[in-house]
Amino acid sequence: MSIKIALAGNPNCGKTTMFNDLTGSSQYVGNWPGVTVEKKEGKLKGNKDIIIQDLPGIYSLSPYTLEEVVSRNYLINEKPDSIINIVDATNIERNLYLTTQLIEIGVPVVMALNMIDLIRKNGDIINTKKLGEMLGCEVIETSALKGIGSKDAAQKAVELAKSRTNSVSHNIFSDAVEKALSKIEDIIRGSLNDLNLRWFAIKLFERDEKIKDQITLDGNTKSEIEEIISDCESKFDDDGESIITNERYEYISKIIKQAVHKSNKVEVSISDKIDRVITNRILALPIFAGIMFLVYYFSISTVGGWMTDWINDNLFGDFVPNNVQWILNSIGTADWLNSFILNGIVAGVGAVLGFVPQMAMLFLCLAILEDCGYMSRIAFIMDRLFRRFGLSGKSFIPILIGTGCGVPGIMSTRTIENERDRKMTIIVTTFIPCSAKLPIIALITGALFRGSAWVAPSAYFVGIAAIIISGIILKKTRLFSGKPAPFVMELPPYHVPGVKGVLVHMWERSKSFMKKAGTVILLATVVIWFLSSFNSRMQLVDIESSMLASIGRVIAVIFTPLGWDNWKAAVATITGLIAKESVVGTFGILYGFSTVGDSGAEVWGRLHASFTMLSAYSFLIFNLLCAPCFAAIGAVRTEMNSGKWTLFSAGYQTGFAYIIGMIVYQIGALFTGKTFGVGSAVAILLIVLLIYLMVRKPRTIDTELRDPVMERKEVV
Ligand code: GDP
Ligand code: MG
Repeated sequence: MSIKIALAGNPNCGKTTMFNDLTGSSQYVGNWPGVTVEKKEGKLKGNKDIIIQDLPGIYSLSPYTLEEVVSRNYLINEKPDSIINIVDATNIERNLYLTTQLIEIGVPVVMALNMIDLIRKNGDIINTKKLGEMLGCEVIETSALKGIGSKDAAQKAVELAKSRTNSVSHNIFSDAVEKALSKIEDIIRGSLNDLNLRWFAIKLFERDEKIKDQITLDGNTKSEIEEIISDCESKFDDDGESIITNERYEYISKIIKQAVHKSNKVEVSISDKIDRVITNRILALPIFAGIMFLVYYFSISTVGGWMTDWINDNLFGDFVPNNVQWILNSIGTADWLNSFILNGIVAGVGAVLGFVPQMAMLFLCLAILEDCGYMSRIAFIMDRLFRRFGLSGKSFIPILIGTGCGVPGIMSTRTIENERDRKMTIIVTTFIPCSAKLPIIALITGALFRGSAWVAPSAYFVGIAAIIISGIILKKTRLFSGKPAPFVMELPPYHVPGVKGVLVHMWERSKSFMKKAGTVILLATVVIWFLSSFNSRMQLVDIESSMLASIGRVIAVIFTPLGWDNWKAAVATITGLIAKESVVGTFGILYGFSTVGDSGAEVWGRLHASFTMLSAYSFLIFNLLCAPCFAAIGAVRTEMNSGKWTLFSAGYQTGFAYIIGMIVYQIGALFTGKTFGVGSAVAILLIVLLIYLMVRKPRTIDTELRDPVMERKEVV
């Protein structure tokens, strides 16, 4: 018989850290709330029969956000054998709100009083015995980060699960409420074979719709219960749910008074001192820009760039192709096979693999920024900015995660309660360059801008600008009108990033990048090679007369107004839909990377010849902003749960990308000496249109008459 133990707690209290400590796995730990949006299962180290379940962080058991729904459904319907309730001891008052609820659901609960290392360091004292008595559960001090106490907590949870000792919910409410609750318990006792009457009584008292549907009560019983509740409500002059919430907080402050002694150190913590500078109204944005510049300077332009150059020039420019050629020659393979291996696989996959060092360095920097606590500050800083444009800081977290990959970014929008904000965030999240788009940036930077250090950060800021402009425009339409939800997020204290965590994170991300090179991109490469090597009569031909060239020339017309009407760029853009890395892989094949001599300059030279700086930049912008890869579009489809909305999203992104690309090229061309033409006129009209859409009066509507709200996927 296996035993299931669930880890439950507030966001950012250390659940995933403890999960990793207990199971030996390396799930992603981020130093901000909202990282885990789906439950994860693992086995306890050393005992395969014990299953540990990591749950999304929740503040309460009322199902308001999707994460809360996931966690609550699991805890209540699937009933784990016991729960380890992880409590962030440095925020104990807020964390106990959930604890009081967990104890009511009729499952054994062990409280892991986590981050005890910080409490000890501050000199605060928490009386765990008193705490346990007042709540009715076991309390064990832990530091998941330092590996203290996690095992004891797990052991205790196993013991309780085996003996089935449920935690006892104390009478924490006032007499009047307790009396009402026990009356309700008496009434439902007959119609419910669940032993956990108190939980149901409280939920009925709160008029919880989901629970009401779960238990079948006849009309008579219902009105009896209703009478008890409304009696109480008129006594308190408040609604049932608020009465329960208020009294929970009252009880918690009683507990805090008796069990927690804060040391009277009033000195300002180091984190606060740092924050005074970093989140300063005036300095915050320049500091953010500076840090991002340094990150890209380090990973793309210098250290990472040097390694990538070496790989491109020597490894895949010289060593691998030469040796493969030599092997093929000595075997005496057919011409087409030679071409397939050298111009197809080596050129395509090699072009992508060349960027691994840059990626790895970037992932390293981002992991450090995340873990030390800076990333959550960015969400906070951005909230001030985003609020003016109808988005909230909450929308920025998916965008931050989207810098790695759009798929988890889109999934993390589940933390956003308001459906319209959530939809809008899903649509704009992929505007930020994900890691797969970085090779495109690096390629263009190297080929056209002589490795200039401003191109990569500018891509970032183009992304943010696209998000802000879209925020303003979309918010003014009927589909998305309404105020953004208030943003509440606590800022975790800064800490020195853990070496292991940072390296694991960098490795995991780099691994999935390389895995893609070996699968999706390899496949795309084969298709592109095939289309670029044969004509429609299946004859091996020169690339310029291949099938791909004919297809490309048709598509290229579309992109003429953007300044890059060469068919190779058009084809590369289309392959970007498979995976953004494919754009570079495709250039690799189309410009014959593998035939290059000992310096990559020749490849860049060829690219250089087909673009001007301006058209290259418009190419870059279009590829950064247009519809994301299929995987991300799939994620949009799942999260929106609607084909129409998915189409709208991809269409909006591509249209927006086209307009911006065109404006940049056409207006830029005027400055570089082109005469005023139809293109310039259209570009100016588009600017006027964008400005109009941004400044016009919002189309607000009566909330009662809103369009059918996107249906939330029921997560069970
Ligand atoms: P989750 O959101 O509950 O899954 O929390 P995480 O496991 O992602 O941890 C959030 C942050 O708290 C990370 O930066 C962890 O390194 C840090 N953390 C977790 N447990 C402890 C602990 O016991 N002590 C300290 N000082 N930090 C911790
Ligand atoms: Mg987590």
